[in-house]
Amino acid sequence: MRFTDEHHQLRRTVREFIDKEINPYYDAWEEAGLFPAREVFRKMGKLGLLGINKPEQFGGMGLDYSYQVVADEEMGTCAGGSIGMAVGVQTSMATPALARWGTDELRREFLVPAIAGEMVTAIAVSEVSGGSDVAALKTSARKDGDDYVINGSKMWITNASQADWFCLLANTGEGPVHMNKSLIIVPAKTRGVTVGEKLDKLGMRASDTCPVYFEDVRVPQRHRIGAEGMGFMMQMVQFQEERLFGAASSLRGMEKIVQATIAYCKERETFGSPLIDNQVIHFRFAELQTEIELLRSLVYRAVEDYVAGTDVTMLASMAKLKAGRLGREVSDACLQYWGGMGFMWDNVASRAYRDTRLMSIGGGADEIMLGIICKLMGILPGKKKKKPAGG
Ligand SMILES: Cc1cc2nc3c(=O)[nH]c(=O)nc-3n(C[C@H](O)[C@H](O)[C@H](O)COP(=O)(O)OP(=O)(O)OC[C@H]3O[C@@H](n4cnc5c(N)ncnc54)[C@H](O)[C@@H]3O)c2cc1C
Repeated sequence: MRFTDEHHQLRRTVREFIDKEINPYYDAWEEAGLFPAREVFRKMGKLGLLGINKPEQFGGMGLDYSYQVVADEEMGTCAGGSIGMAVGVQTSMATPALARWGTDELRREFLVPAIAGEMVTAIAVSEVSGGSDVAALKTSARKDGDDYVINGSKMWITNASQADWFCLLANTGEGPVHMNKSLIIVPAKTRGVTVGEKLDKLGMRASDTCPVYFEDVRVPQRHRIGAEGMGFMMQMVQFQEERLFGAASSLRGMEKIVQATIAYCKERETFGSPLIDNQVIHFRFAELQTEIELLRSLVYRAVEDYVAGTDVTMLASMAKLKAGRLGREVSDACLQYWGGMGFMWDNVASRAYRDTRLMSIGGGADEIMLGIICKLMGILPGKKKKKPAGG
C-alpha cells in the first residue's frame, strides 16, 4: 500500500478525535457498560468518518477502501475494543450491502442518516440456535400484500439498545438455504420489535449487545436490499469488510499493549534488574512485534486486492483468523509480564485480554475461517452421499 498525504491526514483526524472525544471518557463508559453511541456517532458523522468509502451521492467521502482501513487501524488506539467495534458495525457490517445494492430510495432513507451519524445501526444475523451456520437461521419474513411480516429472534446484536435500524437477514422463501434469504432494513421503532436486556459480557463492556425479538413485525417489501433470495450471498460479501475491519482494527491495539508492557518492564525490577533485561522477555516483545507486522502486511495485501476489485475471501479470512489468534497471544503474553497487576480488572493488558477474546468468536469463529480457507484450498471434504440401499 502506498499511503498518500490524504491517508496520513485521515489517520491524524481519527487519532485526534479518539484523543479528544473517546479516550478521556473511556473508563467511565466501560464502568457504565455503555457508551453514548448517538453522541459519538454524530460527532464522527460531522467529520465524515462514518462514510469514508461510501458514495458521495449519499453523503460519503467516496474514497476507496484503503482509506477506510487506515481509519479502522487508527480505531485501535482507543483505550479498549468496544467503541471501535460499535463504529465498525456502523461502517463495515450493517451498511456495506445497503450502500452497494440498496435502491436510491432506501439509501436516502437509511444510509444517508447512518453516514451523517444521525442514526445508529446494527447487523442482525446470529440467532440463539447458532451463529456459525448462517444458512440455518430460522427468522422468517413472509410476504403479505406489499409488506413482509417478520417473526423470529436474533442474539448478541451489538448496538441493539441504541439502534435506529437493523440490517436483518431472514428467510424470505422456501428454496435452498443459500438462495432463500434476504437482507431487510427494519426500523427499531416498528411495532413488534423488542430489544431484550443488555447482555453481561466478558469484555467489550463499553458497548451494548442484546437479543432482539421480532413478533409479527410488518415492514414494506421496498425495505429489502437487492434481489429477493440473494441475502445470504450479499451477507457473505458484506462479511469481507467486517473481517478486514476486525483484522485492521486489532493492529494498533496490540501494539499499544506491547508498548505499555515494555514501559512497565523497564520500570519493574526483580532480582535487582529491570524485567526488560531478561532475554526471554525482550525477545518475546520482538517476536510479538514481528507477528503484528506480518498481520499488517497480510491486511494491506488483502486491501490492495479488494480495492483492485479482486475477490479477497481467502485473504480476509486468513487475516481475521490470524488477528483472533494473535490478539489472544499478545494479550496473554503481556498480561503475564504485569504479574499480579495484570490480573487486576482495570489493567490495560487485562482489558485487552478480555476484549480481544471476541475476535476468535464473532463475525465467524476461527474454525469457520479455517473451513473457508480449506474450501478455497480444495481440501474441505465434501458432504458424503448416502449409498442407495443394497448398493
Ligand atoms: C460480544 C458479541 C458481539 C456480537 N455481535 C454480533 C452482531 O452485532 N450481529 C450478529 O449477527 N452477531 C453478533 N455476534 C454473534 C457472533 O457472530 C456469534 O457468536 C458467532 O458467529 C458464533 O456463533 P455461536 O455463538 O452461535 O457459536 P456456535 O455456532 O454455536 O459455535 C460454537 C463454537 O464451535 C466452534 N465451531 C462452530 N462450527 C464449527 C465447525 N464447523 N467446525 C469446528 N468448530 C466449529 C467454534 O469454535 C465456535 O466458537 C456477537 C457475539 C458476541 C459474543
